[in-house]
Amino acid sequence: MFIKPANIRASHVRAFFTTRQCNGADERVDEAVAREFHISRDQIYLPVQQHTDSVHVLGPELAPVVSDAVVTDRKHIFVGVLVADCVPILLYDAERGVVGAVHAGWRGTANRILKKAVDVMRDRFSCEPGHIQVAIGPSIRKCSYEVGEEVTTGVRGATGDGDYHIKIKDRHFLDLSSANKIQALSTGITEDNIWQSGDCTFCKPGKYYSYRYSGGGTGRQGGFIGMW
Ligand SMILES: [Zn+2]
Repeated sequence: MFIKPANIRASHVRAFFTTRQCNGADERVDEAVAREFHISRDQIYLPVQQHTDSVHVLGPELAPVVSDAVVTDRKHIFVGVLVADCVPILLYDAERGVVGAVHAGWRGTANRILKKAVDVMRDRFSCEPGHIQVAIGPSIRKCSYEVGEEVTTGVRGATGDGDYHIKIKDRHFLDLSSANKIQALSTGITEDNIWQSGDCTFCKPGKYYSYRYSGGGTGRQGGFIGMW
């Protein structure tokens, strides 16, 4: 039901990705998570995702703001993002006691949303990238994510070289999960501190909601992290 990244296992931290078994297509993930953990809905913060490159620093004010990444040092609250093919990414710095959640679609990846979240952790909370754990959740992968050339060009401009894209004749395929892993490494985050799901949401429609597989209308799964 919950997928727990192997690298974020401190007893006072909960980090997980949900599957479609967690919530029906018409039930919000956050409500399912609140029920599962016996917490109030106010203890789950979700930003208003709009494929921006804005990083929100969550303080005492809980009103949702437009952003596609949330960073906080608050305890007793989950920060999360909702996805159905895009990449959910969780961040944790045990030294500074800071967590983050990032929604990286192709626009966010082309605009370096993950790097900007790490920048905020460093600048606002004095986190060292070498201490940050990263968990990259299930998303649509290179096997199934055909995109226009301009999409590959945009993501390559932000990511540089790597085996996260392929061209077969005139068709372009992209792996945003691996592009974000490369971007994480470029910030000084270490390979040992990165966990990456091997699942493709499109290839496992029984396990995950996939916007592309469903042809549009579908539910959402989430990535959540919080300190208790
Ligand atoms: Zn696939």
